[in-house]
Amino acid sequence: MSLNVYNTLTGKVEEFKPLVGNRVYMFVCGPTVYDHSHIGHARTYVAFDVIAKYLAYKGYSVFYVMNITDIDDKMIQRSNDIGIPVEDISKMYLRSFLDDMEALGVDAVNLYGKATEHIPEIIWQIETLIEKGVAYESNGSVYFEVKKFPGFGKLSNQKLDMLEAGARIALNVDKKNPEDFALWKTYKDGEPWWDSPWGKGRPGWHVEDTAISIRYFREQYDIHGGARDLIFPHHDSEIAIAESITGKEPFVKYWLHSGFLNMRGEKMSKSLGNVLNIKEMVKHNRPEVIRFFMLNTHYRSPIDFDDTLLNEARVAYERLEGAVEGLRHAKAGSSQGGSDTLGTYAMEARKRFIDAMDEDLNTREAIAVLFDLARESNKALAEKSASAFAVKDALDVFEDYGGVLGLFGPGGESAGVLDPLVSLLMEEREKARAAKDWEAADRIRDRLKEAGVILEDGKDGVAWHLVR
Ligand code: AMP
Repeated sequence: MSLNVYNTLTGKVEEFKPLVGNRVYMFVCGPTVYDHSHIGHARTYVAFDVIAKYLAYKGYSVFYVMNITDIDDKMIQRSNDIGIPVEDISKMYLRSFLDDMEALGVDAVNLYGKATEHIPEIIWQIETLIEKGVAYESNGSVYFEVKKFPGFGKLSNQKLDMLEAGARIALNVDKKNPEDFALWKTYKDGEPWWDSPWGKGRPGWHVEDTAISIRYFREQYDIHGGARDLIFPHHDSEIAIAESITGKEPFVKYWLHSGFLNMRGEKMSKSLGNVLNIKEMVKHNRPEVIRFFMLNTHYRSPIDFDDTLLNEARVAYERLEGAVEGLRHAKAGSSQGGSDTLGTYAMEARKRFIDAMDEDLNTREAIAVLFDLARESNKALAEKSASAFAVKDALDVFEDYGGVLGLFGPGGESAGVLDPLVSLLMEEREKARAAKDWEAADRIRDRLKEAGVILEDGKDGVAWHLVR
């Protein structure tokens, strides 16, 4: 089955067909680096990480670019508040963001583009918009004249009069019309600046992204992502800028928007003061559990964060992981003869997983398929009924799709190193028990438990699983 995605531009689930061959150009709005990132950001970046990985899994050649907003009002405000230059704030929090992404296994981005490193492209775009008569200079600033782009609002379906009403609240005397937005902001005392044909100043927000995406992808590309708060006015404004410059539409073929991560019903955001930083989260939770927690909801649905749900996610993930460990364990010591039933089930699970992901990247459904396979695997392993081939087939499903979802890794480690070590300690425990040295036997069991290895004595011998 082909991949279908929900496209905000058309409001429909559509078949995904790249503009050129099997190349996918994908752009996702990156963070404004004025503070540490929170788990709301993580929700969006984990979602698009998996989307990029799934596209690659399906054989597309993905070029994934993310911009970094390293100059804007919030950056300047923060710099004034703490007395550190904007440039240093940007360095500090970009580093922090990249560390967070690494910790969460978000590694599908091919290129990060900082706004401040694309000033020539930004100026060229603004000059072109002025030449085309859709932008005007006023007191050293440049504005996009929204009325000159009749399709404005096609992504959000907002009407121009609604924009005017909203914009009137923040009326700016330099603008011809309240809804016009800044492409270039004239220099104010103490702010960072760049030279431009309109004097010293700095770029506006929306044109930063079009400058970067058109620089790397040219006039039209396949996927633009971000969370849903960016649909209006940010993404609508990007469309107005790009289509006015190139005369080609659609600027982007598929617009994908993730749902919010909420805290007690409200979007997690710095301005509401309800944030939980990624750094804090990974101190107390395994990154894979955080990913699992997020991916267990469809990317367009909201997630309501609370500790109980995160805990439930941890328990559920450990159940899945226990099955994977069991399969790795069985494969490492693989002498199980027997039936291929589990292998047949694994093949069906493959198809069901792909069907779920093909239907608008439904990770929740896909994870449910893995739970079914985990149940069947545990049953077959307990009965010792699976053939070595079947064990391998089932394990391959977990490892292939674990790669897409960023779960169950680093896999080799446990099978390669942990297995023989645990086996050795289990043998020692058996020897101690045979010698009726109960104290030594219990000590081995307890020390393993402290390390997260649980031994289970059953009628068919001793089994173990990991709890981290
Ligand atoms: P910002 O740094 O605020 O511009 O946000 C960077 C990206 O994270 C954007 O795509 C935002 O829409 C997204 N984002 C911010 N807060 C949340 C949240 N609570 N839930 C999901 N995505 C978010």
